[in-house]
Amino acid sequence: MKKAICPGSFDPVTLGHIDIIERTADIFDEVVVLVMSNSSKKSSLFTIEERIELLKKCLNKPNVKIDTHNGLLVDYAKKEGAVAIVKGLRAVSDFDYEFQQALTNKSLYPECETVFLCARGENMFLSSSMVKEVCSLGGDISSFVPASISEVIYKRCKGDK
Ligand code: ADP
Repeated sequence: MKKAICPGSFDPVTLGHIDIIERTADIFDEVVVLVMSNSSKKSSLFTIEERIELLKKCLNKPNVKIDTHNGLLVDYAKKEGAVAIVKGLRAVSDFDYEFQQALTNKSLYPECETVFLCARGENMFLSSSMVKEVCSLGGDISSFVPASISEVIYKRCKGDK
């Protein structure tokens, strides 16, 4: 039973995240989408619980579960017996930071590999921050996030609850 972790802040989840999670679920027996609550990103649009609810609405593969963790990612990987951390790579700009993280995690917990999947061409420039920016300026986010959650994101960006 090979378990992988897809970690991130998912504030909010985008079609780029969904693509990486579903491809990971096709490769590994079990996938944990891990909403990290100790992200360095300062202001968040959704609470951890809300992000989990949005993820639930978009994911329906039976081997994918959602969890949250506050602390070191490798501690969670150890506890869960995960063999891989799967990350999506977009432009070269992602590489430096991701490479640093991967090497740090490897030295903290050598039994767990970091695996990189290339973003699909159409998702290369898609990020949660871009979704928030476009949405708050009244733009159309329908090609960036799943249809089932776009309304909630529009409302929140407008300042509604
Ligand atoms: P973001 O970088 O958009 O704020 P996260 O921190 O939640 O997103 O990222 C979680 C993981 O998802 C990271 O491995 C990140 O590289 C990956 N990811 C984010 N957006 C995309 C995308 N458009 N295509 C592929 N992978 C992505």
